[in-house]
Amino acid sequence: MLASGLLLVNPTWANEKVVLQLKWLHQFQFAGYYAAKEKGYYAEAGFDVTIKERNSSVTPVEAVLNNQADFGIVGSSIILDRMKGLPVVALAAVFQHSPLVLITLADSGIIGPYELKGKRVMYSKGADDATFFAMFHQLGINESDFEHVAPSFDAGSLIRGETDAIASYLTNQPYYYKEKGYDIHIINPINFGVDFYDDILFTSEKSVRDNPERTLKFLEASMKGWRYALENKDEVIGWLDSKYPSEISHNYLQFEAEETEKMILPNMVDIGHMSSERFHRIADIYKQQGLVDEDASYSGVTLGEYLYTQDALPFWAKFVFAVAGGSLLLTIFLVGINRRLKAMVDNRAIELSEAQANLARYVDIVDRYVISSQTDLNGIIIDASTAFCEVSGYSKNELIGQSHSIVKHADTLQSTYQDLWSTIKQGNAWAGELKNQAKDGSFYWLDARIDPIRSKTGDIYGYISIRQNITDKKQVEQLSITDSLTGLNNRMYLDNVLSDEFRRMSRYTLDLSIILCDIDFFKMINDNYGHLIGDQVLISISKILRLYCRDVDVIGRWGGEEFLIICRETNVEGAMIAAEKLRAIISDHVFPRVGHKTASFGVTLAVPDEAVEDALQRADQALYRAKELGRNRVECQLKGIENKPA
Ligand code: GH3
Ligand code: MG
Ligand code: MG
Repeated sequence: MLASGLLLVNPTWANEKVVLQLKWLHQFQFAGYYAAKEKGYYAEAGFDVTIKERNSSVTPVEAVLNNQADFGIVGSSIILDRMKGLPVVALAAVFQHSPLVLITLADSGIIGPYELKGKRVMYSKGADDATFFAMFHQLGINESDFEHVAPSFDAGSLIRGETDAIASYLTNQPYYYKEKGYDIHIINPINFGVDFYDDILFTSEKSVRDNPERTLKFLEASMKGWRYALENKDEVIGWLDSKYPSEISHNYLQFEAEETEKMILPNMVDIGHMSSERFHRIADIYKQQGLVDEDASYSGVTLGEYLYTQDALPFWAKFVFAVAGGSLLLTIFLVGINRRLKAMVDNRAIELSEAQANLARYVDIVDRYVISSQTDLNGIIIDASTAFCEVSGYSKNELIGQSHSIVKHADTLQSTYQDLWSTIKQGNAWAGELKNQAKDGSFYWLDARIDPIRSKTGDIYGYISIRQNITDKKQVEQLSITDSLTGLNNRMYLDNVLSDEFRRMSRYTLDLSIILCDIDFFKMINDNYGHLIGDQVLISISKILRLYCRDVDVIGRWGGEEFLIICRETNVEGAMIAAEKLRAIISDHVFPRVGHKTASFGVTLAVPDEAVEDALQRADQALYRAKELGRNRVECQLKGIENKPA
């Protein structure tokens, strides 16, 4: 509401003709844009939008940079384009997960990436399919381990036996096979810790620079369209039958609509949410793949970052903005204010009183939208913004006069507060993430910046704090380190913990043990009962591991039906006992339909200054021996000792 109020100031753009270049043919994938047009959101924002299907000769990026289109939709490859120096700016990441997966026919027996070895795999190499590269890289599979087949863009290729696995969109292709009566298996890079954005709305740098409000208006209207489309899927499907003719059947579109919503996660995040951590991780994968130099920068790739680097904002707005980061609302708000202030300064005819009235309005807006508070030297609250009251659930009266620790959450480490206080007491600014507790006991996450306030003589007389609500971002972070099937930590998270723990172990000479667990004859479950029952067994075993490991152990899904347990400050005897306990519990457990199953375990002790891979290799050797010696057992392999019997 704020945005439209500030942005509808200049009527000269009314019904400007604008072209939106899609990345594919008309289908539910682009629902939000049809809705923005059909429901008049674009028209209200002053646009007359033509939505163009993908044309095979020009990519959306080329179309936008050659002025054939004003806006476009691309995948995460926009980060690669930006690193290569193309002047493109991402406005919103509509798909929080990439729907790109590999599909195999169920009767091929290919259920995981390892089974692709020696098989034919159809996908387009390069930026588009970087997620496959990253998944293979993660699992130690080389592209030379299988035969690469150039894409036919025809899902029928798999049925006709022209390939053993085919790159596909999770949002629609599974339906194609279902309709034709084929059972399939899906290999999804997300289950191996590779999580890309997709369907990113973007434009050119020039278009943002020339007219930031226009860009923001288009963005706003598009996201409003998305919110409408996800609530009114049938209406959108109706348009796809009539106005945006799609070759896809009605039922097919209904399937696509449901699957698309799972990619967008409208209940988890603001539609279009972009997180700099995830951009960073995606950029790293492109670098690993050798598609761009190690030192290439993607700075300015998101609209928020780009505007911030443009020096378009007054200094105080920059301060607020630096704290507010990528908050869309604040971006819109600040660009709006900046324009208005400039106009005020330029036009000397404006009365001072009018400027003051405006300023009062802006102060009011800051009060409503910026979570801020002021305390005295002892941390007693002397002022709190309305936004602060809203997020914390307290009224202004309840807050003023109280210690700021009223919103402290028990999960926040004491050392965080010690660091905060010692920093600000020395007259420096403190910035960091804090978990706070609201009046009703719920929690929320804030990105906070706390600055000392000084009198004219330079003495500190209190502290002012500005914060942004990052609860959404925290939830997305959680999502990207979680294995979607089992809810355990995923491979990427385990890799990070391993490298941290190895560093800590070497520095403080702590014991660190690793347990690798692989289910015995798991393939038989898939073969006899189908992979959905197989998945249920994986979920049950994950629950057992979570229940019977210690809180300090880090448990995760290492690959298909392999689990890794990182036992901190644990010697090898302790880890052997833990593994033996887990082995016994699993072998006693009765899995619904399947009955008894067993698992084998490989245990090792990490040695200071060795590479993570070396320790993992020993755990793997121990596991291999457990399998050789008859399965349902625990084996251990120590550095420099050939065969330590269990
Ligand atoms: P063993 O380990 O005892 O040697 O025999 P196994 O049958 O368990 O053999 P292996 O570990 O090599 O194969 C594991 C199989 O697990 C391969 C794959 O079909 C299946 N698998 C991998 N990931 C998944 C998954 O996410 N869901 C299901 N249902 N099956 C999976
Ligand atoms: Mg295995
Ligand atoms: Mg196995």
